[in-house]
Amino acid sequence: MTFSPSTADMPDARTANPLDAAAAAIQSQREGSFAQLGSTFLTRLPAAPLPAPYVAGFSADTAALLGFPATLAGAPGFADYFSGNTTREWAADALPYASVYSGHQFGVWAGQLGDGRALSLGEVEHAGARYELQLKGSGRTPYSRMGDGRAVLRSSIREFLCSEAMHHLGIPTTRALCVTGSDQPVRREEMETAAVVTRVSPSFVRFGHFEHFSSNDRIDALRALADHVIERFYPACKDDDDPYLALLNEAVLSTADLAAQWQAVGFCHGVMNTDNMSILGLTIDYGPFGFIDGFDANYICNHSDSQGRYAYRMQPQIAYWNLFCLAQALLPLFGARYEESQRGERSVEDAQRVLEAFKTRFAPALEGRMRDKLGLETARDGDDALANRLFEIMHANRADFTLTFRHLAQMSKHDARGDAAARDLFLDRAAFDAWANDYRARLSQEARDDASRALAMNRVNPKFVLRNHLAETAIRRAKEKDFSEVERLAAILRRPFDEQPEHAAYAALPPDWATSLEVSCSS
Ligand code: AMP
Ligand code: MG
Repeated sequence: MTFSPSTADMPDARTANPLDAAAAAIQSQREGSFAQLGSTFLTRLPAAPLPAPYVAGFSADTAALLGFPATLAGAPGFADYFSGNTTREWAADALPYASVYSGHQFGVWAGQLGDGRALSLGEVEHAGARYELQLKGSGRTPYSRMGDGRAVLRSSIREFLCSEAMHHLGIPTTRALCVTGSDQPVRREEMETAAVVTRVSPSFVRFGHFEHFSSNDRIDALRALADHVIERFYPACKDDDDPYLALLNEAVLSTADLAAQWQAVGFCHGVMNTDNMSILGLTIDYGPFGFIDGFDANYICNHSDSQGRYAYRMQPQIAYWNLFCLAQALLPLFGARYEESQRGERSVEDAQRVLEAFKTRFAPALEGRMRDKLGLETARDGDDALANRLFEIMHANRADFTLTFRHLAQMSKHDARGDAAARDLFLDRAAFDAWANDYRARLSQEARDDASRALAMNRVNPKFVLRNHLAETAIRRAKEKDFSEVERLAAILRRPFDEQPEHAAYAALPPDWATSLEVSCSS
């Protein structure tokens, strides 16, 4: 008799449900995870059931990141599982969890906030990387305050589409695996329906987490949190004289880079409160965000932001202001190497020096991106002024942000024959022509020919971004249970730099009805 292994325990490939494998891969108590920080940092509780959920969106890319098959979306029980419904008994230590944080909202200290409508399921490890999975909109938590713990279909689809679109634009961001919806009514400015977006990130730690423990004078917890972030994400900080100052430095650099990327693509976050700032410099908490259509440097995407605190042109300053709050929160950890009597003063000086690095990082980061957007391989005096003058005439003419940059690639360094597409976006043709002449003169100092410059520019100036009206159209259909437009839009936005001539309409100027669209914090 020959030895043959038993096949009795092996799943049958034809009948195995990929959801079982996915659910088993999500671990709520992985070594070194945020969850392991324990009950000072989080509360474990089940999600509130969402009746009769359906799948409204699915990202096969994010699934692949987690090692899940693309067939997962069609698996029996998928919508239930990712809505937080489960028929299993949760083990007490395997329950999902909501974390506690605080923060500054619109420049004012708001005290304790926390995951008021999000629960983390745990972490998945795949291909050497670890990701936390979080259900947003999964019901009330101890941190819900007056809120209902829910998210609506509209905002969940917007977060799903935009976080995936940002990733494909090359901008650091949390990701999204799926959106599930339900007919359960939810009251906002009008009646809407509930949904859950499953978002995915190496970490959901925010500046506000540090502010929370610092403001409560819980320095041991503050240190444990900082140690967790250093251990997992910035291990090189451990070798620094002052690891916590080094952590601040990492946050300063990644946040400066992020702000430069937002500015360069015309993205407005809308609610840059310190509780919406990722310690990893990721775009997080998509709410009333917006990509600028006709350029207005003062553009305010959030209808609730009457003062324009988070207007487009303010974003870099606000990022810096938020980092200042982070530095303030970390201050008790700084200066271990100093004598006690000197520590306070020296630590403040150190923190200020590290914060200064924002300016020396942000400006060159944005200038570099602007040079790439203009197709300039070399750096010369006056490049900055050339870019700023373009922004000035774009602003004066409300020229479309995305299309202006995209069309610049058609211009030639030899003559004005390729100017037409960009020029048509400017009512003041003379202003455009004056700028175009200077741009052409600058291009003629570059060795690269027109064709190869155009190729390079089309790799940094997207043709497709998630314009508000595109999201709105997909949402209107989804409300009628037709999710094909969510899928189509997601597919187009996966390749934002490709011509995709068959989808030209998705790159066009917004229709007239789009001017009345308003997005606000209430979502
Ligand atoms: P946001 O403006 O979405 O970043 O939310 C700010 C704070 O309010 C966070 O603590 C959220 O968890 C909480 N929050 C927002 N909406 C709700 C809601 N519908 N129910 C409970 N908490 C919410
Ligand atoms: Mg938030």
